[in-house]
Amino acid sequence: MKKIALIGCTGNIGRQVIDVVRRYPEQFCFSALVCGSDRGALQSLTAEFHPRLSGCAKDGLPPLDEIFSDCDVAFIAAGGFSGLSYTLAAARLGKIVALANKESLVCGGELVTKEAKAHGASLVPVDSEHSAIFQALSFRRDAPFKKLILTASGGPFLREPKERLERVTPADALRHPTWKMGKKISVDSATLLNKGYEVIEARWLFGADFEKIETVVHPESIVHSLVCFEDGAAIAQLGCPDMHVPIQLALTFPKRLPCGEDLDLLSLGALHFERLPEEKFPCFSLALEAGKAGGDRPAVLNGAAEIAVGAFLKGRISFPQIAESIVYALEKTPPGNADCFEALREADALSRANAEKYIYGK
Ligand code: MG
Repeated sequence: MKKIALIGCTGNIGRQVIDVVRRYPEQFCFSALVCGSDRGALQSLTAEFHPRLSGCAKDGLPPLDEIFSDCDVAFIAAGGFSGLSYTLAAARLGKIVALANKESLVCGGELVTKEAKAHGASLVPVDSEHSAIFQALSFRRDAPFKKLILTASGGPFLREPKERLERVTPADALRHPTWKMGKKISVDSATLLNKGYEVIEARWLFGADFEKIETVVHPESIVHSLVCFEDGAAIAQLGCPDMHVPIQLALTFPKRLPCGEDLDLLSLGALHFERLPEEKFPCFSLALEAGKAGGDRPAVLNGAAEIAVGAFLKGRISFPQIAESIVYALEKTPPGNADCFEALREADALSRANAEKYIYGK
């Protein structure tokens, strides 16, 4: 029986982890269930699964060491910068960390990978693209390769002319063509910030230089990513777009258990691949530049993005202003180092304040 400490149990990914555990109760149980703010949902999950510990971050939590003390897998499905502290705590305890919180590696990639290495923790990708790469590398994060190719659906505005983006609404942005996700990541997929984040994530998960990571638009979301090898061979992972599959695999690999629908090639029709239109989606390039600059730049980018996406969802700014808010915060927040959590938290807070100043004028 594998004991899971699930952080972010009431969110979109967290609920799909719950589905997996419900399906295989003889294989998995929860040692801890933690949510951000939805006390009601947490209460019913606690009654169903009887974890040793449960808590709501809004009401205050026990020390993180205690949350992870007896788990076999720390599943980090919390959203945003707040996920980083959990990932770091689990890494320092030498746990297997199933990482669905991409901000942990975007903001703290250097620190998280250093701590994981120092304490013998292993990071297991949950993001569908990174799970695809992990599978193509036979579940090794240190295997050699020539190039990684991340696929991107292109989001709901792939075909939208640039000048029309000024007028798109939050409802338009939340209508993702192929994946069902939470609000923040749906908007990040519409701006392609999410794909920029995934390049940074791949950089840290697979030790790849940025030059070795390419992104290609693939609107059908059937090919989840590819690994290209020295001899010209490429291995891709294909499947229906269903997050249950990478979530379950993060818990069972190298074993596989029944999970999703079989892929029916004949009913798929043609699969398409095209260049990512960077000129239309500045958030993608902003993320890559921040990733390459390193230090606290990715944390600053992310802090501003969290504020800007919140403001966009409330109708306070237009879609193109998400990128403008990020640019403003990057300019106004002086560069700093990123070698400890405190420095990253400070960068995050400063950047949020700058983004708020840009958006709300205070
Ligand atoms: Mg993804």
